[in-house]
Amino acid sequence: MPKEPVKAPPKFPPVKKYVCRCTEILELAPDIKQFRLEFKKPETIDYVPGQYIQLLTPVYEKNSKEVYRTYSISSDPADKSAIELIIRRIPGGISTTYCFEYLKVGDEVEIKGPYGKLRLSNTNAPIVFMAGGSGMAPIKCMLHYMKNTGNKRKATYYFGGNKVEDLFYVDLMREFESVIADFRFVPTVAETGQGENWDGKVGLVTQVVKEDLKNAPECEAYLCGSPGMVDASIKVLKEMGIGEERIFYDKFEKSST
Ligand SMILES: Cc1cc2nc3c(=O)[nH]c(=O)nc-3n(C[C@H](O)[C@H](O)[C@H](O)COP(=O)(O)OP(=O)(O)OC[C@H]3O[C@@H](n4cnc5c(N)ncnc54)[C@H](O)[C@@H]3O)c2cc1C
Repeated sequence: MPKEPVKAPPKFPPVKKYVCRCTEILELAPDIKQFRLEFKKPETIDYVPGQYIQLLTPVYEKNSKEVYRTYSISSDPADKSAIELIIRRIPGGISTTYCFEYLKVGDEVEIKGPYGKLRLSNTNAPIVFMAGGSGMAPIKCMLHYMKNTGNKRKATYYFGGNKVEDLFYVDLMREFESVIADFRFVPTVAETGQGENWDGKVGLVTQVVKEDLKNAPECEAYLCGSPGMVDASIKVLKEMGIGEERIFYDKFEKSST
């Protein structure tokens, strides 16, 4: 029987400059906000779930020169007329101070993109997603895509916060559990405060993955978050038998142009 041709993954779309309008700012957790940017010119964008854009930070009273900073797209890729970004505030940071203190609904912003090579592979290997804080962004985008395309791959998502208040989009993840064929969401907190109501996992995401993930050597892993979290996760996943070539990640480290 002739072998089925292996499908080449679709190419990454071309990078363009876009003028957008900020149409919504939501507070998701302490120091984490979501920004919705609707496209004015061009009016739509093409990207692969997992990719990121560069946001132009203009000159403002605490910043004397325009700079670009990198942010992963978090929104539903079915909506090409807007993107959402999930941004963690860095004290004294040029771009995050602009986003948190100066950017208002109605303002125009410029971005360029899409960039990046993080994307879901087209294998059937079970997936382990791991993220902390704003690392939620590209994984949320991939999950929208899995829902939209009726993806049947087994997937487990470990999402960590320091405290219960750091967790967000838990309800959306529960909704994904009910509509994505084989998806499980495992939120975890490093510590619980006095009187806090929490019956989920307690510990660092790396500890929880060690205890909870059963079929590690078969899995592919997708990781996003601070360099410390990503490096610690890679170490644990390798110890559990996942080959380095099956671990895909974006480290949210200082990005500048
Ligand atoms: C591929 C990629 C994707 C990214 N996606 C996201 C995303 O979706 N959401 C998000 O919130 N961020 C994301 N980042 C990080 C983001 O690009 C910026 O680096 C971050 O927002 C800080 O920018 P800033 O201008 O406010 O700080 P800067 O003015 O650049 O830095 C101020 C100070 O903070 C330190 N610093 C910079 N970044 C960090 C950091 N992440 N953690 C701790 N200290 C830091 C710097 O070393 C410096 O001392 C991503 C980075 C990369 C490389």
